[in-house]
Amino acid sequence: MFRQTRAVLQKLRYVRFNGQQQAWRQRSTSAKEKALQYQAGQKIHGFTVREVVAVPDLFLTAVKLTHDKTGAQYLHAARDDSNNLFSVQLRTTPMDSTGVPHILEHTVLCGSKKYPCRDPFFKMLNRSLSTFMNAFTASDYTMYPFSTQNGKDFQNLLSVYLDAVFFPCLREQDFWQEGWRLENEDPTNADSPLVFKGVVFNEMKGAFSDNERVYAQHVQNKLFPDHTYSVVSGGEPLAIPDLTWEELKRFHATHYHPSNARFFTYGDLPLENHLKQIQEEALSKFERIDPNTEVPSQPHWTSPREDHVTCSPDALAPDPAKQNTLCVSYLLGDITDTFEGLTLSLLSSLMVSGPNSPFYKSLIEPKIGSDFSSVVGYDGSTKEASFSIGLQGMAEKDTERVKQIISQTIDDIIENGFEEERIEALLHKIEIQMKHQSTNFGLSLASYVASSWNHNGDPVELLRISDNVAKFRQALEENPRFLQDKVKHYFRENTHRLTLSMSPDEAYLEKQARAEEKKLEEKIHGLSDSDRKEIYDKGLELLAAQSKTQDASCLPALRVSDIEPTIPITPFHMSTAGAVPVQYCEQPTNGLVYFRAMCSLNTLPEDLRLYVPLFCGILTKMGCGTLDYRQQAQQMELRTGGMSVSTQVIPDSTHMDTFEQGILLFSSCLERNLPHMFQLWSDLFNSPHFDNEERLRVLVMMAAQELANGISYSGHMYAMTRAGRHLTPAGDLQETFGGMEQVKFMKRIAEMPDLSQVIRTLPRIKKHLLNPDNMRCAINATPQKISHTAAQLETFMKDVAVNRKERKSIRTNIIQKPLDPLNESGPSRKLLTEPNFQPCQMKTFFQMPFPVNFISECIRTVPFSHQDYASLCILARMMTAKYLHGEIREKGGAYGGGARMGGGGLFSFYSYRDPNSTQTLSAFRKGVAWAKSGQFTQQDIDEAKLSVFSAVDSPVAPANKGIGCFLNGITDEMKQSHRERLFAVDHKSLVDVAERYLGVGQRTCGVAMLGPENDAIKKDPSWVLK
Ligand SMILES: [Zn+2]
Repeated sequence: MFRQTRAVLQKLRYVRFNGQQQAWRQRSTSAKEKALQYQAGQKIHGFTVREVVAVPDLFLTAVKLTHDKTGAQYLHAARDDSNNLFSVQLRTTPMDSTGVPHILEHTVLCGSKKYPCRDPFFKMLNRSLSTFMNAFTASDYTMYPFSTQNGKDFQNLLSVYLDAVFFPCLREQDFWQEGWRLENEDPTNADSPLVFKGVVFNEMKGAFSDNERVYAQHVQNKLFPDHTYSVVSGGEPLAIPDLTWEELKRFHATHYHPSNARFFTYGDLPLENHLKQIQEEALSKFERIDPNTEVPSQPHWTSPREDHVTCSPDALAPDPAKQNTLCVSYLLGDITDTFEGLTLSLLSSLMVSGPNSPFYKSLIEPKIGSDFSSVVGYDGSTKEASFSIGLQGMAEKDTERVKQIISQTIDDIIENGFEEERIEALLHKIEIQMKHQSTNFGLSLASYVASSWNHNGDPVELLRISDNVAKFRQALEENPRFLQDKVKHYFRENTHRLTLSMSPDEAYLEKQARAEEKKLEEKIHGLSDSDRKEIYDKGLELLAAQSKTQDASCLPALRVSDIEPTIPITPFHMSTAGAVPVQYCEQPTNGLVYFRAMCSLNTLPEDLRLYVPLFCGILTKMGCGTLDYRQQAQQMELRTGGMSVSTQVIPDSTHMDTFEQGILLFSSCLERNLPHMFQLWSDLFNSPHFDNEERLRVLVMMAAQELANGISYSGHMYAMTRAGRHLTPAGDLQETFGGMEQVKFMKRIAEMPDLSQVIRTLPRIKKHLLNPDNMRCAINATPQKISHTAAQLETFMKDVAVNRKERKSIRTNIIQKPLDPLNESGPSRKLLTEPNFQPCQMKTFFQMPFPVNFISECIRTVPFSHQDYASLCILARMMTAKYLHGEIREKGGAYGGGARMGGGGLFSFYSYRDPNSTQTLSAFRKGVAWAKSGQFTQQDIDEAKLSVFSAVDSPVAPANKGIGCFLNGITDEMKQSHRERLFAVDHKSLVDVAERYLGVGQRTCGVAMLGPENDAIKKDPSWVLK
């Protein structure tokens, strides 16, 4: 929860698929009180209780147990939260880069003893009301978590998870499909060339096309060169074909064993039931083994090392001459030392986070590079932690200079230490994080304790955050040089440090392609005719197996009748502050106040729209009032839980060509800091600083770099946004704000030698946007604090009243909708409508330096409140589960693919990290034909309904209650009607909407693709090439 490492953790994990929303809700029964009654030494269902600890800061009771027969470890966190979570975590320590733990993570989900059907996770998504289901492979463990609010569902999912992990089938065919195989390019044509295929093989090829990810991998491998961290746990694409099926099975037998497992449960369901089920269905069937999976400490180097690696050039890099990365990484202490770990992660924050940190000042502000390197700060995901500092987007000639700055900065820190106020700000941040109620608290806890616990650290110790913070304060009091001494010890005097540089190589992709050809040649060389025949036959067998309709009836399932027929209403009330409408929502927020303001864009001249995301990105980072940007950052950290601004494009719920456009201001704070928080906002309204060109350039460069880096990760989102561009006015604006057009625009800005034109533009935008005349606010706070907050808001409105200008909308086509549907004459939202909008067909291709494609086709259908909307939602889900997943992922080898119905009335098909291009487009079309043919059952429809409802019903955190309605005007009553339409969807209505909306020529559609050079598309004049 408090790790400061930016993206490393995610980057080195291979997450199976994106789960759904998570949940949080308060209950009156007290699970944490009950759990306090357990006694150390007590025996329950084959387990012995070891320790029972109340953790009041996190409102939970921790119960630690061990399994008597196998030694399996168990941690239960009892908390009054109905979003119960289970996870089982195995220590997986590969010694080669064949990706064995990752392929195993995929393969165990291809069927198990009790549930012999393929992909039980995907199938359970449609048979359960889970709020989260996933599996992922980290560097040294593999974790299988799920959460749900339904007790019956918990038992069902637990049963499926236990069976998958401990009793998987691991058939040879599963290994081919998920791992790797040789197969004819066209499996039905024995004369087509043999190529490598496999889900993980393709996934890792995709992952290795992300330079930031490649760099992070190298850093870890080279900083820990002597054991499991020196290999790629996810699999290096060309090492994957060295793995055999036998090795996979052996790895399972030694690593997926209870003696090597850690179980975690969380929530308000009784612990005994979990223990009983886990004992009966899994643990009782095992004897204890010695798994021998400990990771030894990394022997310390006696002198620092340097190394160099290459990567592919980035066509979107803001400055093509500056594409080098350089970073210095230090090996720190063992993460199982909880207090030392906390100290080092806090220290790391002080060193690198925010514009007041010494490394930000010394590395970012001189603009030597575009941003910090992808690995930066504290990383506690390995047995011994590490700290990294460096830059990306820099010129090669600056290498020595950067090294020099890093060592000088460390000397300066040892000399000068940190300002007391910065330390206070950091501890304030921890206080806020502990109070903030998230919807996935159980999952956060599971991830928070995973790494340390994996190496036998004490997970309960980790949860006692306040105790450790108190200890930290005391250490600072006793020794004012406490932190400086740590810096001296871990940085200046540390000889185990690695300086790793990375530079682009023009021939990188070509070399990779050649290496793959060579590997393929090795495998093919010496194949006899009968071997080839066998490969061809196996390919056909796999195809046949994949095409067979699968019987999932062995899996447990909830029924549609288990879904709540009605939703609870969220009460809120409307008021005003200085004539600005305000929505108040009373919630158990643990003493935090959440503030939002929606500001309309309607008066903004058209030519300024492209600048709005940039405006949002820099508004809270340039300084305001009497504060320069450093002081402003300090005050924000000290007084708030963060202040942010984002663009909003909100499609109307009744008309396709109507939408609201605006920006949303958001912040939170502890109740005692309310006046300070509003003071910061009024300074921003009254006197924001825009004229510091140096500061602006730093922010622009970082933003452009972040956008460019994000494409290989969210390419499908860019494809979808682009495909929808010409279909609705809202789609057009979405592309402007968050699509490829915005990426290119920011690249252009980042390349400008002179930003004065941008600096002149920002105040013009501000005049239109930060204007109380076209604003509305929302407050979520505890009932006791609503009136105090209202008074503060009133003062704020008075302070910013000078900005109130009645501006003429540049557009005449504005319609008004009441904020409170029961009060037609009350305050309203102003939506833009373009009744003459003409949607048009457009196929756009973006050539990208990736080896895989991201594809989307979008179809203009109907808005939220339309009769057919619910059928289209269910249809999208059903087509994904019953047709597209099989075609695009299982047969096509893409990492993911499916269809979804979006709020703006666009029905979108997509694929993610896809080796195919035009074949996938025809799979989309075949999906439509499948739907039109009506070859699906009532069971298929019910499953799709469960899946859609588990997303619809994912509970909302107190901070976000009522906010949907505040933003998009969709009331609980409208949601209830939609709910009833969802329940009513049947076979006939599904075939009907497939025919009327999705058939060729029925509705306007758009297509977009991001991917490598593509001859077929180049030759096809119907495509626009970018
Ligand atoms: Zn994977």
